[in-house]
Amino acid sequence: MSNKIVSAGNHRVFVDCDRTLVNTEIYPLLSRHFLDKRPKFFFRWNTVLTEARPSAKAFLQELGSKYEVAMLTLGHSKFQAKVLKELGLADLVGDIYGPDNCDNVPKTNGFVLVDDMEPHSLAIAYKMRWLGHQKGLENLQVWPDKLALHIVQCRPFTGGTEDSEPLTDLLPSVHERMTQMMAEEQKD
Ligand SMILES: [Mg+2]
Repeated sequence: MSNKIVSAGNHRVFVDCDRTLVNTEIYPLLSRHFLDKRPKFFFRWNTVLTEARPSAKAFLQELGSKYEVAMLTLGHSKFQAKVLKELGLADLVGDIYGPDNCDNVPKTNGFVLVDDMEPHSLAIAYKMRWLGHQKGLENLQVWPDKLALHIVQCRPFTGGTEDSEPLTDLLPSVHERMTQMMAEEQKD
C-alpha cells in the first residue's frame, strides 16, 4: 500500500535532470572517450557518458514515497529517458517533460521544482511557464516570493564521486514548501 500523503494527489515535486540528478557529457563516437569506464550509451553517432549524482537515488526514493514526482528538463524527454534508464533511475522519476512535450505538463494545485539553475534564470522562467506561471507586469511584485515558494535550488553536480551538497539535505526544504501549499489549499 502506498504511504503517500493523501492530499498530495494534485501536488507534485518536479526535478531537473542535468547537473541536478546527473552529469551527462556527449562526445563524438570515435573519440578517446570510447574506452571511458563511466556508464555510456550511443546516441546518433555520439558517445554519451553519464553519471548519477551520488545522492540522487536516495533523494528520489524519499520524494517518491511521499509525492508524485516528475521531471522537467531542457533536454529532449526521450534522450533523458535513456540517460535515466542507463543509470537505473528511470523507475524513480515519473513522467519526463522537455521542450518537445512541455504542453503536456500536468496542472497542479502546488509544486516544488528542484533545480541547479538560479531561480531568476531564463531556464527557470521557461519551466515556470510550462507549469502555468508567467512573469509579467501584473505579478512583478510577487514573482520573487513565488520563486522562493516553488524553487529549491541545489548546487550543480559536475560528475565524480564527490557530492558537495547531497540532494537529501534539501528534503526539509521540499517538505516545508509542500506542506505549506497543501495547508493553504485546505483553507480555500
Ligand atoms: Mg540543470
